[in-house]
Amino acid sequence: MRLSTPSGTQNPALQALSASAGGLMFHHFHGVGHPPGQGTIAADVLDRLLADVAECARLLPAAEWLERALSQRLTPGDWCLTFDDNLRSQYDVALPVLEQRGLTAFWFVSTSVLQGHLCRTTLYQRFVQRCFRDPDAFYDAFFAAIRQSPAREAVGDALRGFDPGAYLPAFPFYTPADRRFRFVRDEVLGPDAYRRIMDDLIRSTGRTLSELSAGLWLEAAHLLRLHERGHVIGLHSHTHPTRIAELSAAAQQREYAANLACLESLLGQAPICVSHPCNSYSDRTLAILRRLGVRVGFRADMTLREHGPLEHPRQDCTNLRRAARSD
Ligand SMILES: [Zn+2]
Repeated sequence: MRLSTPSGTQNPALQALSASAGGLMFHHFHGVGHPPGQGTIAADVLDRLLADVAECARLLPAAEWLERALSQRLTPGDWCLTFDDNLRSQYDVALPVLEQRGLTAFWFVSTSVLQGHLCRTTLYQRFVQRCFRDPDAFYDAFFAAIRQSPAREAVGDALRGFDPGAYLPAFPFYTPADRRFRFVRDEVLGPDAYRRIMDDLIRSTGRTLSELSAGLWLEAAHLLRLHERGHVIGLHSHTHPTRIAELSAAAQQREYAANLACLESLLGQAPICVSHPCNSYSDRTLAILRRLGVRVGFRADMTLREHGPLEHPRQDCTNLRRAARSD
């Protein structure tokens, strides 16, 4: 049977879709001028993945899924497609596949790039995808840069007691090296020191931030076209901090109010959906979002047994691809 893995056992992540409702989460694609990199998906792989999903779940157009969520009529097996980070490759590569299948999706947008700023989270992902043969080659360069930086001792001390197996257990596809990198980035360096190290590393390879950002993000006209074709545009914070829950209430309010104002002025209507950037939010974040009129939200994992309307689960497409014979 098609959903079987080569060993004959079924892919549990695919099977589990029939027992709950939520969103499938996608990021980077390759093809149509977008080169392949770690974790990128080609159009034909996406098409086969959607065919596999459709065998065990209902893939609903975004507006229909949203309406069911708002009226609390979602039933197990109701799934939607979600694209984070307003990436141009999603529009160029994934959108034609969706259109062939008559599907629409949620597109969660960080708006600072529409105002000419750089979103370093996605810019750094592209740097790693384009400039290193694999993630381990990047990690080697990253830790070599740390050894030349003022953060050398703090990182060394923190890593002495670090247990990769106990960090980010909700993401089974992360390698121990992935976990070590994320721990150092988020728990030890923090945004400012991480940014200094990464910007220096990019300069040391002869690349520039503006060269790396060329063609990376959707422009206002793309978002308008998606909105006009029935896709649902939602919030993803203005500047995409990796740990928005750790910002002050005022800073979180600024992030989401700016995000909402920007999309409302572009689309002529205020978004009522959010996906939490890097899965980061707190009760305080949810209260801010509710006050802004946000009514449906998505996490970036499947870990909650019970959840509220701003915490719908999402399955990372990486989990579905691993054993589905989709690639
Ligand atoms: Zn994001």
